[in-house]
Amino acid sequence: MKHIPEHLQALVGQAVKRIDTPALVIDLDAMDRNMERMARFARQHGVLWRPHAKLHKSAHIAHLLEQAGACGHCVQKVSEAEALAEGGVTHIFISNEVIAPLKLARVAALAKALSAEGGRLAIAVDCEEGITRLAQAMQAAQAGNAAIDVLVEIDVGQNRCGVEPGEAAVVLARAIQAQPALHFAGLQAYHGGAQHLRTAQERKAAIEQVLRLVNRTRHEFDRAGIEIPLITGAGTGTMVNEAASGVYGEIQPGSFLFMDADYAANQHDAAQPVFEHALYVKTQVMSLSRQHAVCDAGHKAHAIDSGLPRLHALAPEQALRFANGGDEHGVLHPDIQAGNTSGWLPALGDTLWLIPGHCDPTVNLHDYLIGVRGGRLKGVVERIFTVDGRGALT
Ligand code: PLP
Ligand code: MN
Repeated sequence: MKHIPEHLQALVGQAVKRIDTPALVIDLDAMDRNMERMARFARQHGVLWRPHAKLHKSAHIAHLLEQAGACGHCVQKVSEAEALAEGGVTHIFISNEVIAPLKLARVAALAKALSAEGGRLAIAVDCEEGITRLAQAMQAAQAGNAAIDVLVEIDVGQNRCGVEPGEAAVVLARAIQAQPALHFAGLQAYHGGAQHLRTAQERKAAIEQVLRLVNRTRHEFDRAGIEIPLITGAGTGTMVNEAASGVYGEIQPGSFLFMDADYAANQHDAAQPVFEHALYVKTQVMSLSRQHAVCDAGHKAHAIDSGLPRLHALAPEQALRFANGGDEHGVLHPDIQAGNTSGWLPALGDTLWLIPGHCDPTVNLHDYLIGVRGGRLKGVVERIFTVDGRGALT
């Protein structure tokens, strides 16, 4: 795991107001509640949960999730898997396709290392060439028989990766079974595009269509006499539907742990646990004019692909709107429509809390997550997490 510099370590036990800005702050009470609610949800539905570590990229947080009941972790990148493994995480699923031989050699080495520790590496494939290359890498590493779990990804409507549902997936499963070093471990059926459909009804309808494609594929496997050990997928937005399907054995949500403004804009599904915001950018006012205030957090402190951040918990008469101030600044205007009719502005040095539009790429902009207990106003810093997989792109 990455090193934590002394000036940050010295914050542990200190009041929240001592955290310099901009900083990425986790409300640990909210995070713990999100974790517990997810664990209870998974238990009630009889599904495994393998949270997506593309969100937090932190081995330490991965361990906390496992203590709460997670069966392992998903990652999207080989280097994310390596970062978690270095921090002692042993059950990892690369829920993504890997084709480059350079990367596959690392996959094979990691599969071998995790197996030796009693762990397990899994990976997704969507074509025969990918299976052949993976098998070659595993042989070259002398990783042993069935040393990696391989899941066939089917395209269930996102039109990104994944083989066509149905017979084509059976062909890939047979190709996996023909390779001694590979173990056919099931199907990945994830629909990313459905996660942020705004109404619960739209999300339900999208997953009903996913289930038709999954069931068509299951039918072809039945005809071929091949058992599907596991069907995995789902994100925070749609998980109630996959979990209730009776078909998925595992769900992969990630964002539920921190949440963001984009997920908050989804209409709540009554069947879904309430997940709270746990991720904030702490910022402060560094310049003032008569019309606006300027804070010290811009695009380098939070991702803007899903919109600009929202300001947290200001009374209507103090409502502010975050406007684009570039890389290092945010420009804050009185939000008249929300009730700030007097044109109130914060003072120089005032602390503000931003809720990022999109949690995953926001975390990837930071080296550390500062965990606070007892609330953002009166709490204290409890622990600092390193973002071990920050910038892990390969
Ligand atoms: N599974 C896969 C394959 C993903 O790509 C993602 C996110 O993009 C997730 C799960 C988790 O989704 P979320 O963070 O929206 O819960
Ligand atoms: Mn995301």
